[in-house]
Amino acid sequence: PQKARLAGPAVLPKSVLETAQRELLNFANTGSSVLEISHRSKEFEQVNQEAQQNLKDLLDVPDDYAILFMQGGASAQFSSIYLNLLVNQSKPVDYIVTGIWSEKALKEAKKLGGNCNVVFNLNNSKDKKLPIDDKDWNFSKDSSYIFYVSNETVHGIELNDHEDKFFEKFPKDKVLVCDMSSNILSRKVDVKKFGCIFFGVQKNIGPAGLTVVVIKKELIGTRQDKNVPVPSMLCYKTCYDANSMYNTPPTFSVYLSNLVFKNLKELGGISYMEKLNLEKSNLIYGIIDKRKDVFQCPVEVSLRSRMNIVWRCLGSDGKPSNIVEKEFFDGAERLRLHQLQGHRVVGGVRASLYNAIPMESVLCLADYMNNFKP
Ligand code: PLP
Repeated sequence: PQKARLAGPAVLPKSVLETAQRELLNFANTGSSVLEISHRSKEFEQVNQEAQQNLKDLLDVPDDYAILFMQGGASAQFSSIYLNLLVNQSKPVDYIVTGIWSEKALKEAKKLGGNCNVVFNLNNSKDKKLPIDDKDWNFSKDSSYIFYVSNETVHGIELNDHEDKFFEKFPKDKVLVCDMSSNILSRKVDVKKFGCIFFGVQKNIGPAGLTVVVIKKELIGTRQDKNVPVPSMLCYKTCYDANSMYNTPPTFSVYLSNLVFKNLKELGGISYMEKLNLEKSNLIYGIIDKRKDVFQCPVEVSLRSRMNIVWRCLGSDGKPSNIVEKEFFDGAERLRLHQLQGHRVVGGVRASLYNAIPMESVLCLADYMNNFKP
């Protein structure tokens, strides 16, 4: 069946799935699948190395940064960053809260006893706009790091658009940490601006299992508070010293992610992807804005995510209507446009146009939205 899924875990490029299918019975002439060979074999060692290099190439990672392949998802990183980058437990850590995921990261740091300072909290703001005035950006003077999420997957809020406007607010000498789980490889990112970037691969890259940390080498092992032990599985130094093989890595996820990296390099890398993602998201936002009597996007234009487009369907009274949304989902299902329901916490509609969602699927959705009559 034709694939027109618009949310959920990564949709993988067809050519990648075909390669994986072919190699499932005979990987690198081993006569076995990559699922069956030892992670200590030279064949897997090469996959591990290649995947790191390909990602470095795609993200243009400077030499003084390391790529760590870890596990536990981005959620485990909410604890890892705190434990690894703390300096000293009495020092504050700064959190910019823009949605559910940054809130979760903050909660994890608090749970570990963190002296957490909230720079601002969009969840508490009515108009959901970034503060304009510098005084409303409540940075602490001596924080160990500043944390934010570049794309709030549930709320459809993305911050990179502001690259300069947003970044100019940050104190210059601080370690900046960013969760890029849901927009990594979708647009250019200047790695040098960050001390540490992390992401689970399961949205824009490959199957769940692998979590990537891109970190400045000078931060590895140097900022752990001696009084706060870091479990080995969460420890950046342990992972780095073992070349990401401290324990059994999620081999299939690393292997498939590497196929996606290779595929993206062949297509033209991040600039190719960025152009495509802009076209895809502009198309859908254009229809939402054109059909104001039927659709409404709650996110202000400058914060709109290219990856997760959220909107409400309106009833005849001009208010968001669950009934009209049900009609919308039912009609979409008939066209094989699946998984358009918004996250259960916020409701509404959400189209997640991750990297591998083809333009054809987006055109199909656009056509449906243009013709939708509640
Ligand atoms: N951060 C962001 C921005 C996410 O979108 C998600 C999952 O949707 C997570 C973190 C949690 O990721 P994981 O399931 O890998 O722990």
